[in-house]
Amino acid sequence: MAFEGLSERLQSALSKLRGKGKVSESDVKAAMREVRLALLEADVNFKVVKDFVARVSERAVGQEVMKSLTPGQQVIKVVNEELTQLMGGQQSKLDLSSKPSVIMMVGLQGAGKTTTTGKLAHHLKKQNKHPLLVAGDVYRPAAIRQLEVLGDQIGLPVFSLGDQENPVEIAERGVAQAKEEGNDVVLIDTAGRLHVDETMMDELKAIREKVEPDEILLVVDAMTGQDAVNVAESFHQEMALTGVVLTKLDGDTRGGAALSVKSVTDCPVKFAGMGEKVDALEPFHPERMASRILG
Ligand code: GDP
Repeated sequence: MAFEGLSERLQSALSKLRGKGKVSESDVKAAMREVRLALLEADVNFKVVKDFVARVSERAVGQEVMKSLTPGQQVIKVVNEELTQLMGGQQSKLDLSSKPSVIMMVGLQGAGKTTTTGKLAHHLKKQNKHPLLVAGDVYRPAAIRQLEVLGDQIGLPVFSLGDQENPVEIAERGVAQAKEEGNDVVLIDTAGRLHVDETMMDELKAIREKVEPDEILLVVDAMTGQDAVNVAESFHQEMALTGVVLTKLDGDTRGGAALSVKSVTDCPVKFAGMGEKVDALEPFHPERMASRILG
């Protein structure tokens, strides 16, 4: 399960405070040293860890905590609140106000972009939306077929022009078809590459200019830790993302990406991929995630 190591380490660091009637500054310090190590070991960005520990420490030795009847519990509450803040505070929802709302899916190969496009369409269908899927990943062999199979499985139409057309053209005509057919959401699967490169970014920008998406969602593999955060930073700089989808949170990912992406990029995580199946996508709830980590 995701965050298992982090969860155990944090719980053990904080358990020493839990039952204490009195908490001294040095108790807090000792606990924060362990919290710091636990976060670093979970591959959370160094600066994020530093700021986090500083904020928690400052609040934990403050009046509000030390003078309370259950100071140990209060410190844990502060950690919970700050973890929630770290992951974005409030749940960040999709903007689906336009008709149709255009959602552009971007990301590196293997991150789970095509799978997530299908999952998100399925999620929206359950909310009574009528999405059109657009197969724009013309470079990865089998990506178009994969999206068509997903479309069949979830009972949604897929717009495709094969892999010989220009992706900008595909996106534009896909959106035009959605308007004609009355689809209220268009999900465009775009081509990824193995690494962030200029050709990919130029192509994505050309698509963005043509279809003016309401949402640009980056799909990143949470298993890759700080690499995922670096990828998010590059994409956000170039593309002005509106959100991130973290995939493979069902695996034994350590937590670094989930805890760092928002702080480092200021771009909210909107969904979490929890498995390979089409219904394994969940809206990302920072508060629930923090509570899950702290047990
Ligand atoms: P793309 O190249 O980014 O389009 O990647 P794919 O959508 O083909 O996904 C790559 C692999 O990751 C596939 O085997 C997917 O089944 C798998 N995958 C995608 N999302 C998740 C997830 O949330 N959890 C798990 N365990 N596997 C996932």
